[in-house]
Amino acid sequence: MMSTETHNKRERTCVGCGERAEPHDMVRLVLGPNGEVAVDAAGGAFGRGAHVHAVPECVTKACKFGLARSFKAAVKTTSDQLANEIAAAYMRRAEGLLLAAKRAKTLTVGADETLAALLQHPNATVVIANDAASVVKRTEIASAIAEGRACTWTNKASLGRMLARDEVAVCAVIDVAMAEALRQAVGVASSVRVVDQSPKEDVSKCLEER
Ligand SMILES: [Zn+2]
Repeated sequence: MMSTETHNKRERTCVGCGERAEPHDMVRLVLGPNGEVAVDAAGGAFGRGAHVHAVPECVTKACKFGLARSFKAAVKTTSDQLANEIAAAYMRRAEGLLLAAKRAKTLTVGADETLAALLQHPNATVVIANDAASVVKRTEIASAIAEGRACTWTNKASLGRMLARDEVAVCAVIDVAMAEALRQAVGVASSVRVVDQSPKEDVSKCLEER
């Protein structure tokens, strides 16, 4: 068991807002040799690191002054660039986790397989393609969403491409630790970017409203 003291020592200061939080609630950034900022999505890359909350306001402040002050060096990035890089790095991490779950045979692919698995593994996390609104109406999937065990993916085509199928509307990660890491990665990728003004797709809207 960790004592409260060691627990607090793990906290890191956000280079955007200046508040302290657990490192897993933040994104770790590493300064490259030429002043470029790299995103350490897996947490463990070498180099001088700085932490930032995965929200647009903190990323903007970090780019304006926080990163340069923390790294004591000029930083060559804009907030748009950095937000996009953070989102891309965490989506790559999410892909890696899904493929690892597939290799470990703790991933179900497609509506039939997923609905059957949810009956046996009620704590599984579902990944729903944004253009797969019909699947959201299924009771098992609706309860996964209601209980916060769901995340959305770009679309059926991209989920399918990654899993070597034509189109995939839904899949589920049965392994709880992998699923938690996946939800965290997808959460960072979606929270870091400025809210898109285009009309919301059905599924993400459904998740936001829960
Ligand atoms: Zn912050």
